[in-house]
Amino acid sequence: TRKAAVIGAGIAGIATAIRLQTKGFQVTVFETNSYPGGKLSAFEQQGYRFDAGPSLFTMPHLVDELFVLAGRNPKDYFEYIRLPVVCEYFYEDGLHIRAHSEPEKFAEEIDRKTRDSKESIIDFLQDSQEKYKITADVFLHRSLHRISTYFNPQAVKGYLNFGKLDVFRTMDQANSARFKDPHTVQLFNRYATYNGSDPYQTPATMNIIPHLEYNIGAYFPKQGMYGITRSLVKLAEEIGVSFQYQSRVEQIMVENDRIAGLKVNDTIHPFHTIVSNMDVVNTYQKLLPDVKQPKRILSQPKSSSALIFYWGIKQSFPQLDLHNIFFSSDYKKEFTCLFQEKTISDDPTVYINISSKYKPDDAPPGGENWFVMINVPNNSGQNWDLLIQQARQHILRKLSRMLHTDMAALIECESVLEPRTIESRTSSWQGALYGNSSNNRYAAFLRHANFSSGIKNLYFCGGSVHPGGGIPLCLLSAKITANLVE
Ligand code: FAD
Repeated sequence: TRKAAVIGAGIAGIATAIRLQTKGFQVTVFETNSYPGGKLSAFEQQGYRFDAGPSLFTMPHLVDELFVLAGRNPKDYFEYIRLPVVCEYFYEDGLHIRAHSEPEKFAEEIDRKTRDSKESIIDFLQDSQEKYKITADVFLHRSLHRISTYFNPQAVKGYLNFGKLDVFRTMDQANSARFKDPHTVQLFNRYATYNGSDPYQTPATMNIIPHLEYNIGAYFPKQGMYGITRSLVKLAEEIGVSFQYQSRVEQIMVENDRIAGLKVNDTIHPFHTIVSNMDVVNTYQKLLPDVKQPKRILSQPKSSSALIFYWGIKQSFPQLDLHNIFFSSDYKKEFTCLFQEKTISDDPTVYINISSKYKPDDAPPGGENWFVMINVPNNSGQNWDLLIQQARQHILRKLSRMLHTDMAALIECESVLEPRTIESRTSSWQGALYGNSSNNRYAAFLRHANFSSGIKNLYFCGGSVHPGGGIPLCLLSAKITANLVE
């Protein structure tokens, strides 16, 4: 049998391993941590369970199809429910908008609570769907770096509909032109952050993202987000994938522009096919020091990072749901801080995820497990200790004000994740959550391909390469990559 190695057990690495194993390869995954999942991991503290990274789950069929591919029934491994409410939005002026997942109901809520009409929302979501249909086949399901991608019927349809993609305006310009009420604009501008971008820079094409949440749906895995990692690792092991933990790959061995093997713990393992799920910048810099680097691609600006406080809260808040947003009063300023000044605004938008709302054993009785996150710039050597301490105060003040409760008094335990630890724990360049940002209209073409053009049989998957970051795109990168492997 043919052997293949995957570097890293992030979600894309695991999915690629499953796909290659079902294609007849004997796959070994080398993971430097003692656990799988990379950013998609979990931990416990004083009776509270926390998902460490991603909290929003869309496009669950991309997980299901891995089980089907291996001849299994997905339901035997992995269950999830569709959320009736996508998010609770709280504004500083007291407005509260409940984003129902059903488009009609959501549109009625906007109609009731803002100056925008029901029709304007239905229209927007239909537009979002149309944009998605035009882009998905060209940008998400194929390698952008193979000529054939540009000459299939879907691609041609895409070119003919180019105007509908709205690439020449920013997301904010499009949303401000469409909606009357700043509350509605802010709500939809927030979708730029789903891939770590800036609504005041990213092209309006990114208005495809709400389609995923409202039309396809937001979901909750019954075992929490970490259930995605656990169930896929179980499947991978059952079909024969070997996972080597605490195995940091130190070098990719290349001979005559072909893959020859990898060096792990000073031992060389021969391989002729390698897929790197390690961040692509670090793959070149650390594992391929003697190879010419695609400098332009690697130096593209990176997405934002995150600061997360995991708080065990000894009270329950019936007004909150699984996903909650406490908006800043000046959104523009927040993004200027993030992307221009590379710092944290003193009034950041606060996201709270509470998985115990759907999985009560994630917190002790009467308590809740709060995952409190703000967007922060990627790591360029800021004084993080100071910034984190200030942000903690701003967040506590904001939440105490908006929830009419002294929040500090309710915190039973605390952990923190920030750009430096995201970088050190998952080897993500600058601690970026999603690889490159999508702050310009060429971004999709400036991500690294899923294969190396200089080294035969070297491939790439994961959030730092095509088609991009986030669980769904990482799963799609695994699919594209596995299809390219000969
Ligand atoms: P990663 O998770 O980055 O894993 C890479 C793996 O490779 C790691 O395990 C690392 O240890 C290993 N590795 C690296 N170098 C080596 C080496 N030399 N040798 C061996 N192993 C190595 N996405 C969503 O869809 N929804 C969300 O709500 C969401 N929220 C997020 C919130 C946070 C706080 C974070 C951090 C991310 C979030 N994301 C979200 C993004 C999502 O988590 C990532 O896009 C995705 O998990 C990245 O997966 P990946 O396969 O690229 O690999």
